[in-house]
Amino acid sequence: MQRPTYKAKAYSAASAKSALASTTIPRREPTDHDVQIEILFCGICHSDFHSVRDEWSDFMATTYPIVPGHEIVGRVTEVGSAVKKFKPGDLAAVGCMVDSDRTCPHCKAGLEQFCPNFVLTYNGPDKHLGGVTYGGYSDSIVVDEEFVLRVPTNLNLAGAAPLLCAGITTYSPMHHWNVGKGKKVGVVGLGGLGHMAVKFGHALGAHVVVFTTSPNKKEDALRLGADEVVVSRNADEMKKHNASFDFILDAVSADHDLNSYLRLLGRDGNITLVGAPPKPLAIAAFNLIMGRHSLSGSPIGGIAETQEMLEFCGKHNITADVEVIPIQKVNEAYDRLSKSDVKYRFSIDMASLKA
Ligand code: NAP
Ligand code: ZN
Repeated sequence: MQRPTYKAKAYSAASAKSALASTTIPRREPTDHDVQIEILFCGICHSDFHSVRDEWSDFMATTYPIVPGHEIVGRVTEVGSAVKKFKPGDLAAVGCMVDSDRTCPHCKAGLEQFCPNFVLTYNGPDKHLGGVTYGGYSDSIVVDEEFVLRVPTNLNLAGAAPLLCAGITTYSPMHHWNVGKGKKVGVVGLGGLGHMAVKFGHALGAHVVVFTTSPNKKEDALRLGADEVVVSRNADEMKKHNASFDFILDAVSADHDLNSYLRLLGRDGNITLVGAPPKPLAIAAFNLIMGRHSLSGSPIGGIAETQEMLEFCGKHNITADVEVIPIQKVNEAYDRLSKSDVKYRFSIDMASLKA
């Protein structure tokens, strides 16, 4: 039997070369375990851009039409009969995952981001309706309550939306690699993820150094909590930091030279990639061998850790610095994102979708 659906408004792209445009999509009527959310704000992640343009086709090809968006904050409008954690009127949030198998060792450990059967919020296999899942550039979404997060009520909602991806993706590896007092921490790329990493590094008490290709972001980096700023195209400025970092978080979306950052690590220092450039990056072996350096990566974070991150943000009053836009400006925002010109996350005011 076909599951009952309703029509939701959304913005989608029809192909890798198409602009995003207004459309309607089917959403399932909430089942017993579902929460229906009216979306108030949705952040624009560079992953949305990579996916719409099918830049990750070698790894996860895009199915069209695509409705992107995985930084979702809204208000609960309806809940299924078995839902315990939410009621209509509550604030709620959804990040990059809407489901997982819940039985594998990763799910049992609360690390759903490693589940081989997790379901991404968009372009993932939709178990309920077939086809692929549709994301947050929409007026509503229906999600199993286990994948719905609580939002601290003191946070600005437009600025809270980006915490659901940019926030958790930087918070999780910083915790894993013990960022804190007495640690020298680098952040490469001052975009959506990078600026959250600066805020978290500062709140955790580390000495934070920002590496940027954009000299005009220097003042902002300091205001956001950086202790020092290096313009990475200046070789002399880079050299001053040789062999001195405990940890560097690389949040760059495009091809760049990792070797110049590996050389800045101290003994046993680590670089974690959260940025996901479409093309492979070249590494000189000796930049890892000397100093016993390590290079790793990290995907988003589990549901429990995402909730922990949201509580941390509530306590420290941390949100993203956002440029709030109506959905009608989404294509312009994508153009600017591709030029590293966003201060520091676009957050779509979804009320504009009603217009
Ligand atoms: P963003 O806002 O566009 O920021 C990327 C920043 O990278 C830019 O602001 C720029 O910073 C720097 N950059 C861009 N092009 C560069 C180049 N050619 N050379 C050197 N630096 C360059 O993007 P975002 O939303 O933060 O996402 C960053 C990356 O993380 C994307 O690849 C995204 O897909 C990925 N991501 C991964 C995960 C995960 O789970 N691992 C989650 C979310 C996103 P400056 O102007 O300061 O140089
Ligand atoms: Zn994202």
